[in-house]
Amino acid sequence: VLQPQSSTGFDVLVIGGGAAGLYAALCLPSHYRVGLITKETLTQSASDWAQGGIAAAIASDDSVQLHLEDTLSAGAGLCDVDAVQYLVSQAPDCIESLLTLGVAFDQSGDRPALTLEAAHRRPRVLHAADATGRAVVTTLTRHVYQRPNITVLANTFVFDLLLDPATGACQGAIAAQGGQIMPIPAAVVVLATGGGGQVFSQTTNPLGSTGDGVAIAWRAGAVLRDLEFMQFHPTALMTPGAPHFLISEAVRGEGAYLRDEQGHRFMFDYHPAGELAARDIVSRSIYQHLQHQAKTVDGPAVPHVWLDLRAMDPAVVRRRFPTIIQRCHSYGIDVFQQPIPVAPAAHYWMGGVLTDLQSATSIPHLYAVGETASTGVHGANRLASNSLLECVVFGYNMTGLTLPAWEAQPSPGRSLPWPTPLQDPDLLGDLAQQRRSLQQRVWNHAGICRDQQSLEAAIAQIDLQRQQFIQHPLSDWLLHTALPAAHHAQVSTADQPELLQAWGELRNLLDIAHLMLKSAAFRTESRGGHYRQDYPSPSDRWQVHTLIHHDTLSTSAPRLALGQPPRP
Ligand SMILES: Cc1cc2nc3c(=O)[nH]c(=O)nc-3n(C[C@H](O)[C@H](O)[C@H](O)COP(=O)(O)OP(=O)(O)OC[C@H]3O[C@@H](n4cnc5c(N)ncnc54)[C@H](O)[C@@H]3O)c2cc1C
Repeated sequence: VLQPQSSTGFDVLVIGGGAAGLYAALCLPSHYRVGLITKETLTQSASDWAQGGIAAAIASDDSVQLHLEDTLSAGAGLCDVDAVQYLVSQAPDCIESLLTLGVAFDQSGDRPALTLEAAHRRPRVLHAADATGRAVVTTLTRHVYQRPNITVLANTFVFDLLLDPATGACQGAIAAQGGQIMPIPAAVVVLATGGGGQVFSQTTNPLGSTGDGVAIAWRAGAVLRDLEFMQFHPTALMTPGAPHFLISEAVRGEGAYLRDEQGHRFMFDYHPAGELAARDIVSRSIYQHLQHQAKTVDGPAVPHVWLDLRAMDPAVVRRRFPTIIQRCHSYGIDVFQQPIPVAPAAHYWMGGVLTDLQSATSIPHLYAVGETASTGVHGANRLASNSLLECVVFGYNMTGLTLPAWEAQPSPGRSLPWPTPLQDPDLLGDLAQQRRSLQQRVWNHAGICRDQQSLEAAIAQIDLQRQQFIQHPLSDWLLHTALPAAHHAQVSTADQPELLQAWGELRNLLDIAHLMLKSAAFRTESRGGHYRQDYPSPSDRWQVHTLIHHDTLSTSAPRLALGQPPRP
């Protein structure tokens, strides 16, 4: 429900109610007036869907140094060592804080139970069965609602940031709630809008992961980094008509095998670590194996491989993976009797809004936390279970946030008639169709294996789609009338919240598709979550980040050379 503070403003506006936004809001000093915005409700986010767990070196045979090395090794030479050091050294304290708040991680005796996940050399992943994200989000949400200084604005969609025209500093956001588009002034804004997996047709991400924060920050002039790096999860459910539900890495960690149509356990043909190789390697191996099979094996091509849990102890499967058992069962798969059809899908976006160790972006008074940020901890490829950790560790930065001097101006009300051409009942369906064709295009041209020709063809097609989108009567009215008016006034439009959000998400998806493809075409090497068939190896020359500012692509100063040991 619209709160009176929305017009008079907040000290801090947190945009996003996943793990990063919730934890950041709770860490802000309790005398700050905080607005917490989510475009759906607080129960809907990628954080809520996280299954496997959250990593921290808390076992006696583990160390912060080992966690650091594993993270750097997965990151394929592009991690920021200082950021990783910060992440892994803060991890044990952050876990302690989650336990104190009441997150019910599974226990082994009187200590949290730890599991092994791919590319970790020690069992260090805390979990709550296979619904770890839900355990974290539910607990944080309960605390948020108990905090009198935090106002939750649910079903509120942020379009853009408010910027001081003189200094360029961030001063709040423009958002829609119900049919109202309004300015929400704030001294400081924290973007916590999550990832952008929905730009691909095959993704494990929820419908709301449309890269909004990255697109919003880019339009405001923030520097973005490493947008070409997308992690493809190797094992998403591939049953016709079912969403691409994620089958957690932990299933392979606990002993499940990957088999092809002939029953062959093929991963060792591609990597000595077999099923426990890093995600990009497993994803690419599945992709290549399927392509190879399509050419060499008689019979119809099968668009998936099989994840086989039948050699595992059924008691372990029941205890550790109740959600996976139940979800597979709902699609007619009994995991104790038959293997699960799986294939790779877009899962985690390593790139995002460039931030420093304090989570500050390049725009004054704008911060970014969680998947929307590029803190430098994931490099070219994220280590499993480090992202929930990143949400919490960098969310904690908000503890020390100081406010700039600032005073909100109350905004007058204004009514805008909904233009007649927009009465078309097919408008929502039209936007959905445009979204689907964009997703398919990005999957086909910038999926697991990329090359220059295909990327350039897709960039041309997407730029055309962007132009057509801008010329659409709805875009014309929103971009030239409603949104400019909402910089200074609360604007009442027709009650079309779904249409406004669908339009806003498509606008953001088009922007991030353009930026992601440009970055992918720019980087002429393969590394981590960016694989180029025409440049299949990593190159020392590319031991650099890709930076985007407005429409200019550039590279950062070089990172460590390949094979060079990390700084102590
Ligand atoms: C299926 C799945 C399983 C995963 N498993 C794990 C795991 O086991 N361990 C791990 O570490 N990571 C895991 N991840 C990754 C991890 O869950 C995410 O990286 C992390 O939760 C992101 O949190 P976040 O707070 O940044 O964003 P999210 O949790 O995605 O939250 C984004 C929030 O922003 C809001 N929002 C977005 N745009 C707007 C807008 N325009 N206006 C208003 N509000 C907006 C949304 O409503 C939502 O509240 C998994 C991801 C998926 C999809």
